[in-house]
Amino acid sequence: MSFVFVLDTHQRPLNPIHPGQARRLLTRGSAAVWRRFPFTIILNGSLPQIAPAAPLRLKLDPGSKTTGVAVVNDATGQVVFAAEVTHRGQQVHEALLARQAVRRSRRQRQTRYRPARFANRRRPAGWLPPSLKSRLANVLTWVARLRRLCPVGAISQELVRFDTQLLQDAEISGVTYQQGELAGYEVREYLLEKWDRHCAYCGVKGVPLQIEHIIPKARGGSNRVSNLTLACAPCNTAKGTQTADEFGHSTVQRQAKAPLKDAAAVNATRWALFHRLSAIGLPVEVGTGGRTKWNRSQRGLPKTHWLDAACVGASTPSRLLTRAISPWQITATGHGNRQMCGTDRFGFPIRHRTRHKRFCGFQTGDIVQAVVTQGKKVGVYEGRVLVRASGFFDIRTTAGRVTGINARYCQPLHRTDGYTYRTGTRALQSEPEATTPPVDAVVFVGVPASSPASRRAASSGGVL
Ligand SMILES: [Zn+2]
Repeated sequence: MSFVFVLDTHQRPLNPIHPGQARRLLTRGSAAVWRRFPFTIILNGSLPQIAPAAPLRLKLDPGSKTTGVAVVNDATGQVVFAAEVTHRGQQVHEALLARQAVRRSRRQRQTRYRPARFANRRRPAGWLPPSLKSRLANVLTWVARLRRLCPVGAISQELVRFDTQLLQDAEISGVTYQQGELAGYEVREYLLEKWDRHCAYCGVKGVPLQIEHIIPKARGGSNRVSNLTLACAPCNTAKGTQTADEFGHSTVQRQAKAPLKDAAAVNATRWALFHRLSAIGLPVEVGTGGRTKWNRSQRGLPKTHWLDAACVGASTPSRLLTRAISPWQITATGHGNRQMCGTDRFGFPIRHRTRHKRFCGFQTGDIVQAVVTQGKKVGVYEGRVLVRASGFFDIRTTAGRVTGINARYCQPLHRTDGYTYRTGTRALQSEPEATTPPVDAVVFVGVPASSPASRRAASSGGVL
C-alpha cells in the first residue's frame, strides 16, 4: 500500500490520504484521477473531511545505482510515500562511448587531416560527468514532482557516508574515537569504505568482518582510526598479538596511516545535490551514513533503500510507521535519443528515424488502454505503446506485445515521463520485460513490422 496524493481544485497539494478514503471519494464522484504514477487524485470541490495540509518531510538517500526516497510525517512517524529510483548512469556512459566510437570512425573515414584538438577544452567549476549529472537530475526531478503532489515542508539528505570532519579530528588529535554508540557506527562505515569491504589480510569478501587493531591493544595499540582495519575472523585469530608488520603485512600498516584519498570524489554528487536542494528554499537537514544505519538498527528495520531514506538525519521520529507501505520501484529510462540512423551490429545503416516523435497524439512510451471493437484483435489491451507513422501501434501488455492496433482505439492513461513504475519490493533477479526502456520511435525500413510469432501471441492472448 501507498498513501494517495490529493490535490485541491486549484492543484495545490493536500495531505495524502488512505487508499480506502481515496476509493470512496472516486466512487462518489467527489474526485477524479489526476495522475496514475504515483497515484494522485484531484478533488471536484472543497471537502472538509480532509485535514488541512501539514508539512511533511522529504527524505533522500542518494546512492550510485539507486536512490531511496521517503516522505515522512514527523509528527506521527507515518511514512506516507516511499520509492526507490534506479538511475541510468551506466546507460549514459555506454551511450556516450558508442557516440564517441561512431564519430571517431566517421572522422577517420571521411575527413582529411585535421590538426589535433585535445587541449582546447575547459571544464567549468563544479562540472560533473554526464552519468553523475543524470543521477543528480533524477533526484531533483523527483523532489520537484513530489513537491507538487504533497505539502513538503523540509528536506533531509544523507550527505556523507561518514563524518570525515569528526574522524579527521580524531586522527589529528589522537583522541580515542569512542564517544558513544553513534561514533562506533561512523568508524565502521569509514573503515568499510577505506578497506573496500574486504579483509585486509587475506582479501576475502562477503564474510562478516571484524574491526582489527593493527598494533594490538595488548601491545599498547590505541583505538585511533589510523590503527584500525578490517579482518575476517580466521585472520584476526591467526594474527593474535602480532602487529601487522610481524604478521607479514607491512602494506596494511602503511595504508592505515594514509588518509582516505578519494572521499571527496565519492561524495561529489552528494554535495552537488546538497547545493541544489539548498537553493530550493526549504530547510535542508543533512545526516551521515553512520547515523542512518544507527537509526535503522535502533528501530529494527531491514536494509532497503527506502527504509534507509526514511532513517536519514537526526529528525527521524522515534517510531516509524512503515508496516503497510510498499515502495514504488521507479526506473529512469530517459526521453529517447537523438540518433538519426539505426545500424545493425556490423554498423550498417538499417533504419532512419522520422522527424516527429508524436503520431495521432501519442508518443512511444505512453501508457494507453485500447478497446478494440472490430477486426481480428477484439479485446482490451493496456500497456506501453510503440507509435508508428502509419497510425498502427504496438502495445506492450503484461501478456506480451500486441501489434497493429489502430490509434483511434487508444486512450492515454499516463503520458511517458522518462520513468517506468512498478510497485512492491524489488525482485532479486531483474525482470527484463518490466525494466526494458521503451523503444524509440523509428520507422523500420525493410524489416517487417510484426513477426508471425508476435502476431500469434497477440491473437491468442494479450487480453488483460
Ligand atoms: Zn582474512
